[in-house]
Amino acid sequence: MTEPETLPDLPPPPRKVIDAHAHIAHEDFIPRSFVDGSIDNLLTAMHARGMPLPRSKVARMYEKKMQDPHCDTLIAEMDEAGIHTSILLAADFSYILRDSKLTVEECLRRHADVKARHGHRLEVFGGIDPRWGKDGVDLFEKSLRSWGFRGLKLYPPCGFSPSDPALDPFYELCDAYRVPALVHIGPTSPALGFSTTAPFLLDEAARRFPRVKFILAHGAVSFTEECAMLCNFRPNVYLDLSAFQGAICPGGGPAAVRTAVSRGINHKILFGTDWPVFRMQADQKTFVEAVTTDGGPLAAVPERDRDLILCGNVERILGELSVPERAIRLET
Ligand SMILES: [Zn+2]
Repeated sequence: MTEPETLPDLPPPPRKVIDAHAHIAHEDFIPRSFVDGSIDNLLTAMHARGMPLPRSKVARMYEKKMQDPHCDTLIAEMDEAGIHTSILLAADFSYILRDSKLTVEECLRRHADVKARHGHRLEVFGGIDPRWGKDGVDLFEKSLRSWGFRGLKLYPPCGFSPSDPALDPFYELCDAYRVPALVHIGPTSPALGFSTTAPFLLDEAARRFPRVKFILAHGAVSFTEECAMLCNFRPNVYLDLSAFQGAICPGGGPAAVRTAVSRGINHKILFGTDWPVFRMQADQKTFVEAVTTDGGPLAAVPERDRDLILCGNVERILGELSVPERAIRLET
C-alpha cells in the first residue's frame, strides 16, 4: 500500500481583494506636461547608464497602456487577478496644469459614467482642487449625492496643504456623508511641487476632523516612518500600499510591504495597485500575487490581519461596500 500523498500546507486564498487605489487608464485624465515630467526622470537614468532612449519611443510605450477610457480592460484584469472592487481616484490637475484636457467637472462626470457602466465593481473618490472655492464644494457634494461617489481625493503636489482652511467645507461634507479623504503623499511628476507632500501637513486637519477617515496614499513607500506614526497615533489616519511596485529601498516592493505590515498598524493598511501607473511592469494578477503568494510579504501575517489589509479595512471605512454582492460578476 502506498502512503497517502500529503498536500502542502498552503495559506487559504484571500476572502476578497479590494484595490483601494486605481485610476482610469486614459490620456484624457493626465496632462501631457505631467507625463513628460515623469519621462524626463526615466530618460535621465537611462542616459546616465549609456542607454539613450528616444523620448518618442517611451511616449509610445506609455500611450499603448493608456487606451482604456471605459475601464473594460481594468475589469478584465480584475477578474483575472481576483480583485472584487477597485476604487478609482479622479485627480484634479486642471487648476494648476493648464494643458489639462478636461475641466474638473468633465473629469468627474466621465468617472461617474464609467462607474455606472460597471456597477459596484468600481467606486470613485472625486478629486477637486480646493482653490475652485464654492463651485468646487458644490461639485463635490453633487458627486456624493447624485453620482454615488464614495470619497474625496486630494493631490497636494498641485500646491496646497491638506490642512489648508479652504478644505474645511470639503471635510465637513466628508463628515456629513461619512466618506473618507485620500491624500497623495510623497513625490510625483517633476511638473509639480513636492514641498506640500509630507504627511505631517495633514495632521492638523486630521485632528480638527476626528470623524473623517484620512488615507495616506503611498504611505508604505513615501515618508514611511511618519506615515506609520500617524496611523499608530491618530485613530482616523490610514495608509495604502499603492506604488509598492516602485519602492526605492533595499529589497524593493516586497520589503516595503513587509516593513509596513510589521508596525502594528495592520488595522490601518489598505491594499492598492495604483493601476495603470505600473502597467509597463506587469498585470494586476502579478501585483496581487506579489503580496499574497506563499513566502510573500503577507504570508507571515495572521490570517485575520491579512483579510483586513486585502479588504476588511476599506470595507469598514466605506461601510456598505460589501453589500451589493448581487451586482458582482466575478466567478466563484
Ligand atoms: Zn495613484
